[in-house]
Amino acid sequence: MHIQIQCCGVVLMLVLFYFYMRQKRIALETQKAFLTVFWASFICIVFDILSIIVIQQRHVLSEWFAKFIAKTYLITLIGVAVSALGYMCVDIYAKREDYWHDMRRYLALCAVGVVGTYAAPLYYNYAADGAEVLYTFGPSVYVTYGVSLVLFLRIFYLMRKEKARINPRRREAVCLWLAAWIVASQIQFMYTNVLIVGYAGSIGIMVLYLKLENPETNLDRSTGLFNSGALYQYTKQLFAKERDFAALVIIFENGAYQNVHLERRGSVRMEIIEYLLKLTDVLVFKNAEDEYFILFADPERAEAKVKEIRRRFQTGWGEGGTSLVRPHWLYLPHGSIIDQTENLLYLVRYFRQEEKAFSENDFLCIDKDSVDRMEHEREVEQLIMDAVESDRVEVFYQPIFSTAEQRITSAEALVRIRDREDQIVPPGVFIDIAEESGMILKLGEIVFEEVCRFIRRHPLEQYGMHYIEVNLSVVQCAYENLAQDYIRIMERYGIDPGCINLEITESASTNAKKTLLGNMQNLMEYGVHFSLDDFGTGQSNLNYIVDMPVDIVKFDRSMTNSYFENGKAKYVMEAAIHMIHGMNLEIVSEGIETKEQYQTMEDLGISHIQGYYFSKPLPEDEFIAFLESKKAEQGETVCC
Ligand code: C2E
Ligand code: MG
Ligand code: MG
Repeated sequence: MHIQIQCCGVVLMLVLFYFYMRQKRIALETQKAFLTVFWASFICIVFDILSIIVIQQRHVLSEWFAKFIAKTYLITLIGVAVSALGYMCVDIYAKREDYWHDMRRYLALCAVGVVGTYAAPLYYNYAADGAEVLYTFGPSVYVTYGVSLVLFLRIFYLMRKEKARINPRRREAVCLWLAAWIVASQIQFMYTNVLIVGYAGSIGIMVLYLKLENPETNLDRSTGLFNSGALYQYTKQLFAKERDFAALVIIFENGAYQNVHLERRGSVRMEIIEYLLKLTDVLVFKNAEDEYFILFADPERAEAKVKEIRRRFQTGWGEGGTSLVRPHWLYLPHGSIIDQTENLLYLVRYFRQEEKAFSENDFLCIDKDSVDRMEHEREVEQLIMDAVESDRVEVFYQPIFSTAEQRITSAEALVRIRDREDQIVPPGVFIDIAEESGMILKLGEIVFEEVCRFIRRHPLEQYGMHYIEVNLSVVQCAYENLAQDYIRIMERYGIDPGCINLEITESASTNAKKTLLGNMQNLMEYGVHFSLDDFGTGQSNLNYIVDMPVDIVKFDRSMTNSYFENGKAKYVMEAAIHMIHGMNLEIVSEGIETKEQYQTMEDLGISHIQGYYFSKPLPEDEFIAFLESKKAEQGETVCC
């Protein structure tokens, strides 16, 4: 038997270990499991060599000792197999208890294997001359192979069953490693004097190392800090272990370097990175968005350290400390208030956008309330997305009564979402969030299309109606292609644009007045009319009406209500009515719930009334039934 090939394996593994130890590492469970595999394989080769030596020297040493070492080598094979199984399970079981729960059975099997291997007899197979031992065989070997086979089968079973939970690169690397082992053992079986199993094992370890356990893959190349992959894995581990931590995120927004001379920005950035690299007792990660995550294992001590880091930024960088860099800071004193890595990353994305949430010194401390708010918004966003995708956006219609014609002459289209439990979600819950996330564009378009479809299916004149009012959000008003898209939809449904009245609010114009006016212009030329919604909420004033080409002004429910509750508000409203009528505009009074309120509004000369007094917003079929009943009550066929 020759041991040269095995010795090469040992050297290869020592070189690998040297490189491994020299690299900057992070305490990841996968890396701990890899080290276990590494040492199991290393011990296996060493015992392979030792067993060859002692078998050759068995006459000098002792027969008993030679067999003991040969059996120990066999046991190390079981060690390699079980460490490989453990390595596969790190991805599957995030929690240590679950991991050990599963591994316990296989460790017990290994214990049986160890006892069996030592207890069972082992024989030598000699070369033709009878002097040299070619290989060992017998029950001891079969016990080892039997146990190893069970472990390998378990590994392959997990690879198939838990495919989704195992890192695909790990699956691939383990497959390559085991394949190298199996092929080598086949070769060795056929050519008994070619002892390559140990060497093949070490090659396999090198594959694992190169493919996914090289600590360098966790480093950000440009800074030497840990990268986003490492952040993901490390925080995932912390959450799985339910271990609290604190995190400080430094965000270099565009304006962060504005006080630094353009030429000096590169060197100042490098100086900051150097500083972050030197921080002790913390782990610093950088992601592609130039966000730096500083993680503190001990939340109690984090606050002092956070102050120290921020103080450093206040003193300035570069020569003489003259360059002030002003990043945004997000501080999460307790990571335990969130439950998973995805939420941590989402939280940073979310608060990063919340410019207004940052206090004066660009510092934002995230507490449980902010996380709850964020989670609520996320749920609602999900709800909207879900509803849009699965066609669960509905439009309700609330009738509007004309005091002049004494009948329903129009209606307001109001969006609703049906959740998975078939419950109706009112717009108050989701409109703001849809606006923030931009989903309002899609939602608005669905509503508009639905209204056009409604008008086509139920020609308005059939019910004595003139138009349907459709709300436009601030975001839609600032959308360049709004007019073009809406005109295309109206054309597609072949509806008269005069049947559409779009409601805008004052806040729409503060954002992108030029775009809004352009959109209004195009739509009006096409034949659409406009109303000003929310009048009296502080979102609208009389000057604004002068500026905007609207035909109708809608008094908000709060304004109509205060007319009945507050003496002074009466005068304000009466003056407003007077002026609006003076401008030749119509008024819709919203939120009218009683006969008295209705009577008062009619006496004030208000032309249109909307409110629960007539009807709540109704689903399409109920609204049509409502109109039919009104038609029947009037006992006449109404025409437009
Ligand atoms: P809004 O446009 O001012 O609509 C009037 C709101 O007042 C509706 O609430 C309506 O149900 C409610 N209302 C009407 N009469 C009465 C009444 O007598 N008593 C009471 N208590 N409430 C009354 P809703 O449907 O919950 O809508 C709330 C807001 O959501 C709307 O206010 C509008 O700003 C927004 N919204 C609704 N649909 C859409 C839409 O399709 N697109 C956009 N962008 N916003 C929408
Ligand atoms: Mg409205
Ligand atoms: Mg309104």
